[in-house]
Amino acid sequence: MLRLAIQKSGRLSEDSQNLIRECGISFLAASNKLKTEATNFPLEILYLRDDDIPGYVQDGVADLGIVGQNVLVEAGFPSLEVEGLGFSKCRLSLAVPRAAAYDSVQDLQGVNIATSYPRILGDYLTERGVKANLHTISGSVEIAPSIGLAEAICDIVSSGSTLLGNGLREVETVFRSEAVLIANQNLNPEKKELLEQLQFRMQAVRRARR
Ligand code: ATP
Ligand code: ZN
Repeated sequence: MLRLAIQKSGRLSEDSQNLIRECGISFLAASNKLKTEATNFPLEILYLRDDDIPGYVQDGVADLGIVGQNVLVEAGFPSLEVEGLGFSKCRLSLAVPRAAAYDSVQDLQGVNIATSYPRILGDYLTERGVKANLHTISGSVEIAPSIGLAEAICDIVSSGSTLLGNGLREVETVFRSEAVLIANQNLNPEKKELLEQLQFRMQAVRRARR
């Protein structure tokens, strides 16, 4: 039986569950339970926090997972990705206070930047020869400039309205993300075969949606 980890509650949960259902697989929704077994496919579903999914799949606690590429790459396991799923699209952007002068990423030299994505942002800045002071915070990143914690932020943006509401303007796109299917790299032949069946169904669902 395959074990698939999906987000318990949040921006990925509904689309993840819908995709599995549209693959013709029946299972109970996440209630107060951490896991459930599908009734018509050899699949067990684990409901987890999205941040825990890459590590669980890397370690083989789960065979498969559905998670945002942003979380996958930040966790340091980009090679677990099997395929993009086309939902939960968003971008990771740098933003500065609306009135701040900004011409290019070089202006961030020596600047304090608040983010929940120190690895992705650190790689982006290093590639461009910029040394900034990254302050890792786990939530409410966009209020950091107004409370004096940082002069810039790097956070997930989908519409930009949260940035506007906090007096910030987006200046660079650091990373583009969507939900991806990930898999442990040492699946046995039986599990690999089940993964192929599942991927075949997922691809059919996506073709039918277009
Ligand atoms: P958890 O409780 O599981 O840790 P979370 O609060 O970290 O959840 P969510 O806000 O539910 O995470 O976002 C999950 C993923 O959805 C993000 O990592 C990202 O890939 C994607 N996403 C899409 N649009 C947005 C958005 N506007 N804001 C944040 N994340 C988004
Ligand atoms: Zn999370």
